[in-house]
Amino acid sequence: SLFLTPDQSALKTRARALAEHVARPSAAQTDRTEEYPLDVVASLSEAGFMGMSVPEDLAGQGATCFDVALVVEEFARCCGVSGRIVVEGNMGAVGAIIAYGTPEQRETAARYVLSGDKPAICITEPGAGSAATEMTTTAERKGDSWVLNGSKHWITGGGVSRLHLIFARVMEGGVFKGIGGFMAYLGETGLIIGAREPTMGLRGIPETAVHFDNLVLPLDRLITPPEGIKRGFSGLMNAYNAQRVGAATVALGIAQGAFEAACAHVKKREQFGRPIAEFQGLQWMLADMSIQIDAARMMIWRAAKSADHEPSGFPDPMLAAQAKVFASEMAVKVTNDALQLHGASGYSRNTPVERMVRDARMFTIGGGTAQMLRNLVAGKVLDMKTPQTRGGYARAGD
Ligand code: FAD
Repeated sequence: SLFLTPDQSALKTRARALAEHVARPSAAQTDRTEEYPLDVVASLSEAGFMGMSVPEDLAGQGATCFDVALVVEEFARCCGVSGRIVVEGNMGAVGAIIAYGTPEQRETAARYVLSGDKPAICITEPGAGSAATEMTTTAERKGDSWVLNGSKHWITGGGVSRLHLIFARVMEGGVFKGIGGFMAYLGETGLIIGAREPTMGLRGIPETAVHFDNLVLPLDRLITPPEGIKRGFSGLMNAYNAQRVGAATVALGIAQGAFEAACAHVKKREQFGRPIAEFQGLQWMLADMSIQIDAARMMIWRAAKSADHEPSGFPDPMLAAQAKVFASEMAVKVTNDALQLHGASGYSRNTPVERMVRDARMFTIGGGTAQMLRNLVAGKVLDMKTPQTRGGYARAGD
């Protein structure tokens, strides 16, 4: 490849082989049963694809964001759910803890992902979606403990994830100190898994409510980024730029899978006495799909590579946002066009394209909506921060 080193090409080939072998055959069943694919997760762990981003001193491989993206695309091409598991086993919560945690916190997070856990990141609340900092979950200091109370929803992995990174308003002596991230584990008293959302796509991973009812945590569960607690949320959210590149890559992989299915179908299906691939209208659709997919891949690769040059070690926020907006919207269009090229058979649940359409749909929403990411991009383009709250202008400059 023009861009890949021999090692990266080998990694991509190895990921493709395993994805074809374990993820593709079970993708339809995972979608139908809506069960978390533990057998795929076991294969991912065995192959070293869970926790590959963990540094070598913590028993990982120190894989770069770019390496992880190569693997994610290959799995998402066969099975969107599997692609997402690779993202969360290497980016997001684990990335934040490894970047900002104490030696003990980092060692714990590494151990969880290396043993196949896909950590859950708990930010969104019923009253705080795009306005994430309006969250109301609190963590009150009581003696030698933090006591968490509140509710999250749409938490990916709810009930199957063991390690949780929970965001809450840190209160000490009744004073708000900032938004902090806390480590908690499935099964701890007061960590309650709520109702599962019946989702459109990506049905093999549960999204659930998660409630905290006097969840008591030792003091050392709080992650403190270098910025301190007051600015801690934006510090911890740096790690989210990797997750964003990961999400964009899952969308890319799903689109690539749908595109390949469409190419195969138009060559095989005959109407009017000839393969439908001979119709120029369809050829141009496929040409446009390939151009859009490649453009998304280049943006994702650039964003992923930027992590190697950022002081934070995470992708540049602007590049990550641009890539996610483009790739997520591309995937919605490309998967739908792939379904169109299949005719009625594409609409049948007996072929995988309708699943790919549903699986691709969420990436313009989860992990920062396409609108909120455009706000971020616009802010960088204009070098201007536009408050989103009505009273924001009055407070701007605080
Ligand atoms: P809202 O914020 O209510 O937005 C509704 C609409 O208004 C959107 O189109 C939005 O773009 C638009 N909008 C809102 N404010 C503005 C503005 N200022 N300017 C322009 N447009 C605006 N959260 C977690 O914490 N952990 C998870 O693991 C997780 N997993 C998820 C998995 C899935 C499949 C999905 C769908 C969501 C997940 N989320 C998770 C939640 C996700 O992060 C939120 O859905 C997202 O941040 C948007 O919040 P909301 O759904 O409340 O939409």
